[in-house]
Amino acid sequence: MPKCPKCQKEVYFAERVTSLGKDWHRPCLKCEKCGKTLTSGGHAEHEGKPYCNHPCYAAMFGPKGSGKPFLHLLLPFTLQANVSWT
Ligand SMILES: [Zn+2]
Ligand SMILES: [Zn+2]
Repeated sequence: MPKCPKCQKEVYFAERVTSLGKDWHRPCLKCEKCGKTLTSGGHAEHEGKPYCNHPCYAAMFGPKGSGKPFLHLLLPFTLQANVSWT
């Protein structure tokens, strides 16, 4: 049985949500900063912890003052590392 990375307790199938390559309890997959409930693949991460794309991740790690939507944050987590800006 996989263990939830948030609370370290076993995750049963009925309450499981998979994101960041790990299995979470549905209520445990929430933004580390504001506590908003997140959906699988619909959020950002930093150092293995989940954050909502907006406003938390954008405010903490996104480019400042561009005024543009952070489109790259909408990509699935697994694709972000492969994005080339050159
Ligand atoms: Zn949990
Ligand atoms: Zn948040």
